[in-house]
Amino acid sequence: MTILTPTGGLQLRVAGVDTQDHPEVDLDATIESPVAMVGSTGATAAEPLLMATTDGTTAFYPACSSTRLETVAHRIDETGDITVEDPATVVDHDPTLPEMPHTGLNTLQDGTRRVLAGCGWRRPANVADYDAAGGFLDNIDSDTVFDAGENIHGRGWGDACHDTPLTETWIDAYDAEGEAAVVVNVHSNPGDSLLFSSTPFTVLDGAVSLAQTVDASEIVVFASVADESAVETARTAVERYPNKSSIAIDVVTGPAEYRAAEPTMALEAIEGNHRLEARLRPPGPESVGLYGRPTLIHTARTLAHLAVSLREDGTDSQPPTRVMTIQGDVTDQTIIEVPETATLEKACAAADTTDGVKAACVGGRFGGLAANLDVAVDPETLTDADLGTEGIVHILSEDRCVVEFVGERAQFAAEENCGRCVPCREGTTQLAELLRSLYDGTYRPEAIDELIRVMTTTSICEFGVNAGRPARTALNTFESEFEAHANGRCPTGSCLTAMEAK
Ligand code: SF4
Repeated sequence: MTILTPTGGLQLRVAGVDTQDHPEVDLDATIESPVAMVGSTGATAAEPLLMATTDGTTAFYPACSSTRLETVAHRIDETGDITVEDPATVVDHDPTLPEMPHTGLNTLQDGTRRVLAGCGWRRPANVADYDAAGGFLDNIDSDTVFDAGENIHGRGWGDACHDTPLTETWIDAYDAEGEAAVVVNVHSNPGDSLLFSSTPFTVLDGAVSLAQTVDASEIVVFASVADESAVETARTAVERYPNKSSIAIDVVTGPAEYRAAEPTMALEAIEGNHRLEARLRPPGPESVGLYGRPTLIHTARTLAHLAVSLREDGTDSQPPTRVMTIQGDVTDQTIIEVPETATLEKACAAADTTDGVKAACVGGRFGGLAANLDVAVDPETLTDADLGTEGIVHILSEDRCVVEFVGERAQFAAEENCGRCVPCREGTTQLAELLRSLYDGTYRPEAIDELIRVMTTTSICEFGVNAGRPARTALNTFESEFEAHANGRCPTGSCLTAMEAK
């Protein structure tokens, strides 16, 4: 592998090409200029993305086919002219810039990249690249870390403590009896997976700083066994991570099941239990967690935000940002970072939709359905709007049937819950049945509302607490569609087969 030089001659970066998937892309073998295979930017539509840099100017060639990649790279290599093949944009920047310069390309939303700054610009587990970006955080003062935690909210349902400032939980773990542990939860959120695949040292810096602060002796990176890219990069990054003499860092995989991301089920998986069930709280894992030890469980997003904040001296002087994944009826899944003041509409504009936008399910698998996307992405506003804060927005195009969509989400919940508590186990099954009975002409909105209320208020973990949210929010916003189904009509026509079968 070639070395990226901060200044001087021509160098090429290729983002978003997995050389195992694309063995035909082997620029190193045929090009004289240095070529670096960097991680994904998160903007799949822009990849493969070829970037050609010389003396503080970079030309961007997004969405290259393998053939175009080869052609452009060879032409630039032969001519020394980075603009020779009509790039999408050319940007002048500081020649030593350790992160992607601002391109203005909408798909990258790169004006606000903080935690994603290194994604698609640096080689993922390359120590030299990370050193050039400021190097590893080392022995950050505990007070600085605790102070930083006051301004950071846990980012997703994979955080044992989310949507509230983190310091109090950290102090609880510090004060609890026993040697503490930190779990980095990379399971089930594309943003977490991207961070570990593209900029793993940033996440590890956050985890190590936190571990040092609460005197933890162990860090466990927990990922889905199906997430090969994140797992492989995590193992390499852990091997190369310095300054870890007193802290053991392991990478552990768990089953590729959605519920495994729930923090206490993640602990069960790490401990090797095959039957994953959520643990009763209190006590929370910050007091009694991994093997009974105080344990802090955070998503990669949360820890990356911590690392970036610490690099900025914990002052968090810039507006907070959110990593958002836009998926569903879009041409390509897109992961971007936006300021918390941005609206869902602005975030969704980074992805090309396939047939307009009728609604979006905001907040992951059990997010809330919204037709109005003029809503800021900060956690308070999303919560007030009964939307989720998981950082995943699933677009529903104009021809999507909302009733069918929430029925599928309810069925998923009925099949995937762990079965430990009655409100979720029985409630999700009953919810799926109530939604199915619409097709028989039975519409009982009060019964659906009451059932979801019980699930939300009495389930043991966030899975059951949120499982009814898609149906509840859809009932509020799209009631006429539910009534139409009960009257034998699907406004989009997509449920006709189900109705004809009756
Ligand atoms: S809420 Fe659902 S997933 Fe959570 S413990 Fe109860 S049955 Fe299991």
